[in-house]
Amino acid sequence: MIRINENFLKLQSSYLFADIAKRVDAYQKQHPNQTIIRLGIGDVTRALPAACIEALHKGTEDMAQESTFRGYGPEQGYLFLREKIAQYDFQARGAEVEADEIFVSDGAKCDTGNIQEIFAGDIRVAVPDPVYPVYVDTNVMAGRTGAFGNGRYEGLVYLECTRENHYVPALPAEPVDLIYLCFPNNPTGATITREQLATWVDYARQHNALILYDSAYEAFIRDERLPRSIYEIEGAREVAIEFRSFSKTAGFTGTRCAFTVVPKNCMAHTADGRTMALHGLWNRRHTTKFNGVAYPIQRAAEAVYSPAGQAQTRALTDYYLKNAAFIRQAFAAMGYACVGGDHSPYIWIDARRDAWEFFDLLLQKAGVVCTPGAGFGKCGAQYIRLSAFNSYENVQKAMERIRAALI
Ligand code: PLP
Repeated sequence: MIRINENFLKLQSSYLFADIAKRVDAYQKQHPNQTIIRLGIGDVTRALPAACIEALHKGTEDMAQESTFRGYGPEQGYLFLREKIAQYDFQARGAEVEADEIFVSDGAKCDTGNIQEIFAGDIRVAVPDPVYPVYVDTNVMAGRTGAFGNGRYEGLVYLECTRENHYVPALPAEPVDLIYLCFPNNPTGATITREQLATWVDYARQHNALILYDSAYEAFIRDERLPRSIYEIEGAREVAIEFRSFSKTAGFTGTRCAFTVVPKNCMAHTADGRTMALHGLWNRRHTTKFNGVAYPIQRAAEAVYSPAGQAQTRALTDYYLKNAAFIRQAFAAMGYACVGGDHSPYIWIDARRDAWEFFDLLLQKAGVVCTPGAGFGKCGAQYIRLSAFNSYENVQKAMERIRAALI
């Protein structure tokens, strides 16, 4: 008899987006002439930068000639890309990261989901609340939690991100081994200062903990004082793994390219107390289960670092940030407390009522779709997330309609 991994039965079905789609469908049927504006999704809407497209075409041409054709590439990614990443994303900012500490992959979703495989089954895991659900669900699948009840899984430590702490959680009050942090944050859009991040690095060093730092949205940071990488913090190399993605930086959500940094001196322990480098372990896992990102895609990602690519990706994120600023200002002017939107494409709005009730209000009265914060955790029960991934015209129209509906 083949038996299933029963941990999967503990998972809460992802009702969130299915529920949203159901409500939107019903509304559209009742109002066939209304154009619905979607500000709920976390997917980019603008075309790839020209520099990336040019490199993608050139990479495809390389595959058409025997002299330049490539078969399997290195599982960790081509050196041409890893060297650019190390130089531009890290060394140029004073963060010590070498090309051979970078693992190119097809997504930060896969990497943030897969990384937990290299850790013991009984470690104590801390996750933010609200949270990018991948961190939680992959630990549930791996059996690191008990049952779900009252909005939370037994056995996980939840780091509450609230208005009071400006959406940067306090250090855990109980012992934890693995800590997921994400800044600029999805869903809140909040950022962390260098000093705040340093307290987390110090905590990890003092408590033999490890930080999994998701900086998928770092390209939206405009304040140079804010850290883009955890490795800008002294001592982080020994206690942190970082995840990055070209998805939001350069519009690669459908193109797929990301990377994970595992510094060679980042350590964990065996049951009998020996110290082991996580780099070797992740390399073993990655090379066993992954066969590399397509060559033309890696060429397209490399083009992000060319002078034209840098200017074009900046213009792309600037475009979304202009939308974000517009949304945030519109809600702030109506008296709503908001966070995010200044260094992030997300705006987290205190709805002062049940998130689904506010969702329905925006849909029914304005024809605008948001994401109810309740889908990201208990702390999101009275919040909504709006996303800046749309055209500026649609964002303006959406805010006009919302203003008319709410005032
Ligand atoms: N991490 C966070 C916080 C995200 O919000 C997302 C995507 O929405 C990802 C990772 C996934 O990125 P990728 O497209 O590289 O899988």
